Parts: sequence; C-alpha cells; structure tokens
Amino acid sequence: MSTGAEQTLVICGHGMVAQRLLEKLVGQRQQPFSRIVVFNGESTPAYNRIQLSAVLAGDASEDSLQLQEPDWYQQHNITVYQGDPVTEINRANRTIYTASGRAQPYTHLVIATGSRSARLGLEGEDLAGVMKFRDLQDTRKLIEVSQRHRRAVVIGGGFLGLEAAEGLRNRGMAVTVLHRSGHLLNRQLDPSGGALLEDALSERGLTIHTRTSPVALLGRNLVRAVQLDDETLISTDLVVIAAGITPNTELARDAGLDCDSAICVDRQLRTCDPHVHALGECCQVDGQTFGLVEPGYQQADVLARVLCDPTTDAAFKPSIIPTRLKISGIPIFSCGQTEANEDTESVVWQDYETNRYCRLLIHNQRLTGAVLFGETSDGPWYSERIQQADDISPYRAHLAFGKHYCEAA
Ligand SMILES: Cc1cc2nc3c(=O)[nH]c(=O)nc-3n(C[C@H](O)[C@H](O)[C@H](O)COP(=O)(O)OP(=O)(O)OC[C@H]3O[C@@H](n4cnc5c(N)ncnc54)[C@H](O)[C@@H]3O)c2cc1C
Repeated sequence: MSTGAEQTLVICGHGMVAQRLLEKLVGQRQQPFSRIVVFNGESTPAYNRIQLSAVLAGDASEDSLQLQEPDWYQQHNITVYQGDPVTEINRANRTIYTASGRAQPYTHLVIATGSRSARLGLEGEDLAGVMKFRDLQDTRKLIEVSQRHRRAVVIGGGFLGLEAAEGLRNRGMAVTVLHRSGHLLNRQLDPSGGALLEDALSERGLTIHTRTSPVALLGRNLVRAVQLDDETLISTDLVVIAAGITPNTELARDAGLDCDSAICVDRQLRTCDPHVHALGECCQVDGQTFGLVEPGYQQADVLARVLCDPTTDAAFKPSIIPTRLKISGIPIFSCGQTEANEDTESVVWQDYETNRYCRLLIHNQRLTGAVLFGETSDGPWYSERIQQADDISPYRAHLAFGKHYCEAA
C-alpha cells in the first residue's frame, strides 16, 4: 500500500451522502489522504436535496439548502470540481476521466452518484413540459413553469409525487395526482391511512386518481394531455414524473464492477475492486437498495472509518428507517411493517373528531410496524420499540396511546 503522503481519494458525485462522507473523513483522528478530489455532475456544491420540496412549495428559500460554507472545502484541503461529471473509470491505471477532459489518478475511489428519476417508457415522455423532480435545476424550472401555466399532472402518489403535487398546488396550479396502487403512499401506509391522506389532500384542492396508470403523454412539441389506461384524457400544461428512482450505475458497469439493481458492495461499502467503494443511493448492500438519506449517512460513517483504518471492523447493517411526509399540516409517520399478515396482530385506534389514526402491528409481543396519521410526536418512540424489539406485554393495553401512557403503565 502507498504511504500516507501519496494517497489520493477521489469521490465521484457530490450529493448529500458524499458530503457526509467528507465531514466524517475530516473528523477522523488519522486521515491517510494527502489529497481529496471531488467531481460533481451538478453545478452547485452538495445541498440539502430533501429541502427541495419546501423550496418548491415556497416554504423555504434556496439559501436554506446550503450544507457547508463555501470556504469549508478549502479549509480542509478538499478540491471540488462542480459541473464536471466523471465519464470513465479506468481501473487498470486507477484514473478517472471527466466530461471536460480532466484525468485524475486515485489510490482510492468512492462512487456516490446517487440516482435519477425512473423513466416510465411512455409514448410522449420526451415532450417539452414533461419534467422530473430530482435536483435544484428541476425545482427552479418547476417554479418557473408554475408561474406561466395553470394545470399539472403528477405521476406517482409516493412521498416525492405528493410533495411535488402539493408544492405546485401551493404555487397556484390545479394539480391531478395519478397513482397506480389502490391507496396513496402504499409502501408506507395501510389502506385506512392512505384514505385519510387522500381526504386531507383532496380537501386542499388536489385531484387524486388511484388505481390508474398513464398509457401515453400527448402533444405535438409540448405536452397537452395524459391518456389513462381507461382511455380518459386529462388536459395539462405540465407532467411531473415522480414514480420511483433508478440508481446511477452506468460508470460502474462500464468499468466492469459488479452491479445488480445498483452497485454491489459489501458491508464495508467495498465493490469487487478493493480500491473502489460505493455508497448512498447508487449502491446495494445484501441485495437491498436505498431511497432515503439516513442509510446513506450510516454508510458514510462506516466508510470514513474503513478508509482511514483498513483494519476496522466497522460495518454497515441495513436497519428499519422511519419515514415522514413533508407536507405542512398533514403529519404522517410510518416505520417498519405496514400490512398485517397471518403472523401479526393489529392494534388500531382512530379518533374521527380530531382525524387522528394509529395502527400498530405486533408479532410475538414485539412491535413490528407503526403508522401514525394526524399526531406523530410519538413516532420516534414507536420506532425505538421496533428497532429494539422490546417485549411490549407490560404496557400493551396502552400502546396505542403513546409513550407517556406506556411509561406510566
Ligand atoms: C425532492 C426530494 C425530497 C426528498 N425527501 C427526502 C426525505 O424527506 N427523506 C429522505 O430520507 N430522503 C429524501 N429524499 C431522498 C434523498 O434526497 C436521497 O436519499 C439522498 O439525496 C441520496 O444521497 P446520495 O448522495 O446518495 O445521492 P444524490 O443526493 O442524488 O447525489 C448524487 C450526486 O452525484 C452526482 N453525479 C451523478 N453522476 C455523476 C457522475 N458521473 N460524475 C459526477 N457526479 C455525478 C449527481 O449530479 C448528484 O449531485 C428526497 C429526494 C428528493 C429529490
């Protein structure tokens, strides 16, 4: 292995997870890299992508996205090239090449290229006015379109689609949401929770169609209508596709690294090449891919330790991550299992007056899932019970009423 003075770490991608890795690396006591060089596809330094929903809705400014002061990188001797994506990894001579023609040798390479909005393969998907909601550029364009046009269709009733829809509605557009499944947020909510959410969003003015799929996007140059599977046509000026993500694996595949749905890495985030690691939404661990930032942060923590001390036993273990909807005034929390099966029991509590709903799933006196609607302050406490697999029998009768009742019991 090279001596510390010669080691160059190259990071391909500067998203939220790469930024967390940088912060963890500079926090390590012993840092083996004489140079850290980051190449980013986007023209802005890493920013808080999660907050784009709030920016679209007009609830936050672009300034609030910043993760680090501009001089932080210089202070830590980190070189960042913005707007210069890596186009090739040559593993034989350990060098990456970029779109602008740079060649950068590495001793260690980290791929953190994240993912992109999934394409649906629909006729008309390339028409002007068909957009995605993934980065700051998209958000700026969506805001601009919302100022010139009135009607929008959002394809996808998951977190991203609903946050896009609500953001555009907040900006004055008439928005229709199309969702393939029978209820909204079907991966996080049970059907009752999904129905409550649909009511709340409909009351605000969103038009929601569940159990429906678009078959074509129609228009000459500009999208004008969405055709549904039952032949219905919905007129529109804008279509936002928010129906899943595709990990950015092309670079890794072209370099001959093992990929499946994403770049395959072990629990120390190592690809099949010991000099190349991958983390965040572009990677896959134990067959699992990730669409949330928290697992990426956990991976960054592990990888910083692995890169600084190859003898460490630090390892990333996928865990159950709670999720929340970021639409103000509609608190939703979901963690773990959402649908009962023959092995689980359900505890359901609903207050029609205050529109609060809680569904808990239990297996062998252990909490395995929690769906909360309307009041979610106990969410982290339920999440802890799920993670720790505590025996809930001493306070089971109080479980639906939350932390304080259970602790008192
Ligand atoms: C609007 C929105 C809201 C979200 N809300 C939440 C939320 O509430 N909670 C949550 O947990 N998650 C949320 N997410 C998901 C979260 O943002 C991602 O999980 C997280 O950003 C993944 O981080 P990453 O670093 O792996 O990838 P990314 O943040 O996607 O960063 C990857 C970067 O790599 C760059 N890149 C790609 N290819 C190359 C290349 N060849 N060379 C150089 N650079 C390249 C890309 O341009 C990008 O900047 C949201 C996502 C969006 C879009």
